[in-house]
Amino acid sequence: MVGTLNNKRSEPSPLAGSGRVWPWLTTPLAIVSGGALIALIMVGLCAASLYQGRLDAMTRARETSRNLALLAERDIERNFELYALSLQAVVDGMSEPNVLALPPDLRRQVLFDRATTAKYLGAMLVLDAAGNIVIDSAGDVPRKGNFADRQYFRVQRDHSDAGLFISDPYVSRLRGGSPSIALSRRLSHPDGSFAGVALIAINLEYFHTLFAGLSLGPHGAVSLIGKNGRMIMRQPYADHVAGRDISQASTFRQFVRAPDGSFADTSSIDGMHRLYYFRNFPDLPLIIMVAEAEPDIYAAWRRRALTIGSLIVASGLGFVTVSVLLSMQLRRRMRAESELQLLARTDGLTGLNNRRTLGEILDQEWRHARRTRSMFSLLFVDIDRFKVYNDTYGHQAGDDALAAVARCIGANIRRPGDSAARYGGEEFVVVLPDTPPDGASLVAETIRAAIAELGIEHAGSEYGRVTASIGTASWDPERGGDVSAVIQAADEALYNAKASGRNCVALFHRA
Ligand code: GH3
Ligand code: MG
Ligand code: MG
Repeated sequence: MVGTLNNKRSEPSPLAGSGRVWPWLTTPLAIVSGGALIALIMVGLCAASLYQGRLDAMTRARETSRNLALLAERDIERNFELYALSLQAVVDGMSEPNVLALPPDLRRQVLFDRATTAKYLGAMLVLDAAGNIVIDSAGDVPRKGNFADRQYFRVQRDHSDAGLFISDPYVSRLRGGSPSIALSRRLSHPDGSFAGVALIAINLEYFHTLFAGLSLGPHGAVSLIGKNGRMIMRQPYADHVAGRDISQASTFRQFVRAPDGSFADTSSIDGMHRLYYFRNFPDLPLIIMVAEAEPDIYAAWRRRALTIGSLIVASGLGFVTVSVLLSMQLRRRMRAESELQLLARTDGLTGLNNRRTLGEILDQEWRHARRTRSMFSLLFVDIDRFKVYNDTYGHQAGDDALAAVARCIGANIRRPGDSAARYGGEEFVVVLPDTPPDGASLVAETIRAAIAELGIEHAGSEYGRVTASIGTASWDPERGGDVSAVIQAADEALYNAKASGRNCVALFHRA
């Protein structure tokens, strides 16, 4: 009845299978977490580079504004220098009696150089102490007019040290209401008393044209402001802008705080958020301000960020989806593997451990018994007259009876350490660790009785029903020997049980 038993335990090789070195790397959760982490890193890197791009856009805008401001400042400074020289020539000429004695046409040629014909220049005038025009660059006969009310006159009259004065914008009376500013200088009598004013009027159209040529995006703004807070010109231009007092605006307060600088603020004129760059003219009471609107600064960046950002987010999501699918696939495979493993360990007909697994269990329990110096018992169960049963009821009924007996054996071993296996054919083995002989025969008797209780009809049996004989053997590992000796002993006991009339339990006794 007893065959050889494969007692070799199948230890898994440390490198067998994929990813055994770090098994946690190939768990479904690790794959999803890894995928999500990589997607997160991708999105993070992209966000960092887009943020850097945004900072770069701001730096570029600041540099552009600075360059444009410098360009406009140079142009204005150069022109004002020429106008100031022309004005100085008039002042100098007016103190020369010889010049004053010249006939009007000659005197005009001597006093006013060709600067007066420049495109955006209005009249160059000499006013007397009462504000009346006495010499006019436009003609030998001065036009009629009194400008005693003008700021450029009053300042020179009231302050002997005003020097070269740049007026606030005003509406010209001589040139049909065109907005202008004037540069004026004081004329003095030899005793220092006020003799009048020499002035040159500059059409604001000059600044308008200059600023219109600067490319600053659809919402950009350029302004020329007096240091007293009077707006001289602004691009985009509006009629009410020239002469407007912005000295109380938050932006202006920043302009006068440093020679130059940049900051972001909301415009007091149109409410647009802009990046301001300003410069105070070193030699003139003027401030130039160049401002690019934030929507313009970030327009190109925003388009790029939208495209790249959505592509990266989409590929990140794709990556996570692939990881989830992969982990689902892996989970399915692991489940299938464990099912296969279970199939490989159990007997297909009865669902009990198969013979190979029995070998492993015995090996393990044998070592455990040796380690703990505990007794270890084994039952050998064999169905009585089963050949006859098969012959009488057919092989299929035989299979059913086998499965029913196996279930009965399984149901009657209750301790967690106990296990049952199909040894082969209609033979079963029950392993009972830490169990002395009387315990073993008790379990054996329970199983035997339960099988008989099943009441499966067996006409060929002397009991009229399916019964089983059981041989038990208990072994103290300290006595030496090996597992197969225990099986041999149980088999011998079984032989005795068969010999004693079947449907009974026999204990092995050492000779
Ligand atoms: P004994 O009381 O002395 O044990 O007599 P027995 O007929 O049970 O013993 P024997 O070893 O002569 O016969 C065992 C029979 O069990 C042989 C075979 O017909 C039957 N058998 C073994 N395995 C299977 C199986 O998987 N299915 C079925 N239906 N029958 C099986
Ligand atoms: Mg048999
Ligand atoms: Mg039998």
